[in-house]
Amino acid sequence: MTQDQSLTASQLAELKELLQARRQDLHKQMEQNRANLAPAVNTAGSVSQDESARLANQTREVDSALTSLDAQDLDRIDRALEAMDEGTYGLCDACGCHIPFERLKIEPMTQHCVACKSSWEQKQAKV
Ligand SMILES: [Zn+2]
Repeated sequence: MTQDQSLTASQLAELKELLQARRQDLHKQMEQNRANLAPAVNTAGSVSQDESARLANQTREVDSALTSLDAQDLDRIDRALEAMDEGTYGLCDACGCHIPFERLKIEPMTQHCVACKSSWEQKQAKV
């Protein structure tokens, strides 16, 4: 067992708590989004039928955009928690290096080290 840059048990526990808290937040947020967006259409009042249909459409688009973003985040959180169980958490997906604890604390569901992520972002920016 090498103890080089890999995460300690207590660091892992801390990150796991962060991930679980974030997952709970996301669940709450998703429920709130639905609750907030639904009544906005009903209280529109004197708008014409066309207008309210347009609003309903718009609301649905915003809602599904938000939800799919949240769903992506949830997916990443679940994957991070799975990796923790498998003991592969904290390793960069691209180069396999240890992602520093300080970085994981800020972005616990990241799967890439800073170097790989910034080169990926540069590639994205060119498209
Ligand atoms: Zn990397």
